[in-house]
This record gives sequence, C-alpha cells and structure tokens, in this order.
Amino acid sequence: LMRHADQAMYQAKQIGKNRFSVFDATLDAETTARHQHREQIHNALSLGQFVLHYQPKVNLRDGKVVGVEALVRWQHPEVGLLPPHDFLPSIHDHPLGMELGEWVLNQALCQIGEWRRSGLLIPVSVNISAQQLLHGNFNDMLSALLNRHPDIPHDQLELEILEKSTHQDARQVSEIMYQCLASGVEFSIDDFGSGNSSLSELKQLPARTLKIDQRLVSGMLDNADDLSIVSSIIGLATTFRRNVVAEGVETERHGARLLELGCSLAQGFCISAPMPATDLPA
Ligand code: C2E
Ligand code: MG
Ligand code: MG
Repeated sequence: LMRHADQAMYQAKQIGKNRFSVFDATLDAETTARHQHREQIHNALSLGQFVLHYQPKVNLRDGKVVGVEALVRWQHPEVGLLPPHDFLPSIHDHPLGMELGEWVLNQALCQIGEWRRSGLLIPVSVNISAQQLLHGNFNDMLSALLNRHPDIPHDQLELEILEKSTHQDARQVSEIMYQCLASGVEFSIDDFGSGNSSLSELKQLPARTLKIDQRLVSGMLDNADDLSIVSSIIGLATTFRRNVVAEGVETERHGARLLELGCSLAQGFCISAPMPATDLPA
C-alpha cells in the first residue's frame, strides 16, 4: 500500500504540483511487465540471441537480386524466433533501442564483408528508427562503425527510414541524411504512402529510393484508391528521379501489375521470405 501510494504521489508530482493522482493497478502491471521485458531484451543482447534475416529485393524484369533488406529477429531459447514487432515497441524510447540498432548496423556490415570475401557483392539495407536517427550523434556512430569495416565499400550500405519518422523534424532529418551521404551510404524512405509526406518535404530528403508501403501494394488489385496511390508514387519517384521498390509483393499478379505501372523493383513473400544469411547465396 505504501509503495502504491508513493507511486501515485510521484505521478502527481510529475504531472505538476497541487493535484492528486490515483494509483492505477493496470498501469502498474504494464510498467512492471515492460521493465521485465526490457531486462530480457538486455540479456538477449548480451547473450547474442538476436539474428538478422535477409529478404531479397529483385528486378522483376530480369530476376536479378539488386539487394537485400536486413530484418532483426530474436532467437528466443524457449519461444523460438520472434519478429521485431514482439520486442522493438518495448524499447523504442529506451537506450536499449539505440544499443540494438547499433548491433544491427554492425552485424549487417560484418555480413556484407563476409559475403564479399566469398565473392558475393550485394548491397544490404538496414532499418533505422527515428530514435536512432534523431537522438545521439547518429553520423558519428555510423562513421565509427564504417571505420571498423574498412574493406567495405560504403555504397553497399543503405539506410531505410520510415516515412513517418521524417515528419518529426524534416529539416533535422534532412541534415543528418546529408551528413551520412558524405560518407557514401544511401537512403531509402520506407513504408512510403502510409504517412503524409508533402512534396516539399520529399524534395528536401536526399533519399535515392522510395519503398511503397506494403498495405498499398497488397490492396492495389481490389481497391481503386490504393491503385491510384501506388501509381502516383511511381510517377512521383520518376519525376524526382528516385528509384521505387514495391514492398509486400505476395502474388505474381501483383508483380505483373507493378511492371505495367512502371515499377520493376520488388520485395515480397511471392519472391522470397526473409531468410538466414547462410541461405542467401543459394
Ligand atoms: P519493413 O522495414 O517495412 O520490413 C518489411 C516487413 O514486411 C518485414 O516484416 C517482412 O518480413 C515483411 N514482408 C516481406 N514481404 C512480405 C509480403 O509479401 N507480405 C507481407 N505481409 N509482409 C511481408 P518484419 O521482419 O516483421 O519487420 C517489421 C518491421 O519491423 C519492418 O518493416 C521494420 O519497420 C521493423 N524492423 C525490422 N528490423 C528492424 C531493425 O533492425 N531495426 C529497426 N529499427 N526496425 C526494424
Ligand atoms: Mg524496411
Ligand atoms: Mg516497409
């Protein structure tokens, strides 16, 4: 009872003074669960339980693989392979999110190096959270990592940033992107079409590629609005001289329609699901 009362007081102080606050048991249980979850993620990181899976991006015209996207998974010893949705939300506003993000980048660079030594030169794209990009000194961290892998051509690394994270502070995002571009890495804007980017914002962002949000791609055969948006994004990419990649291509019909619309780069279950690094060369 004393602990709960103390927490309610603490909360009242946090919100402002001269007020009362009622202890909320549900909220308390959620907070405790989140702490425990973070603790487990922290342990998983030190025990090396995170892995990257890689999903090919292909050119639908000639079938060539043009790159792969690195996607993090937690190889949990009891529950099995966990997707990012099961652990990233718990750490997105926590220093652990930065730590895991740095691990992912370093791991992807190690993998580029490993494939390169075996004769496979393949660009890898890595998802970067808004937290990672905007907090701390992202460019310094990236430069330090690139310096640890001097044998890797920097243009083999691409950074994917979510369209919605570019809205938080478009000018700052754009500045950070330009700093990173100076070291030779490339950018793409992920889940494009799911946020509400303005044309002037798009003009400011030096991203080489737009990745069409998978919900739009998945809906485009049955929903005229989705089709119009997909088609407009392809047009926009052409106008702004950007590449365009369709995400979430699940059937050949989707692929064929995308080709008709002028989008030849695609990624999706119909082509290949994400896979462990060892499976990729074959
Ligand atoms: P994303 O970057 O848009 O990645 C594509 C997601 O769609 C992946 O889910 C992939 O497995 C899934 N996918 C691929 N093809 C298809 C398809 O044909 N149909 C459907 N329905 N889905 C498909 P995943 O691996 O669960 O990742 C979900 C999201 O988590 C990613 O979306 C990305 O935003 C985030 N994420 C993944 N790895 C990282 C990471 O290392 N760092 C950060 N910050 N975020 C990550
Ligand atoms: Mg992505
Ligand atoms: Mg995406």
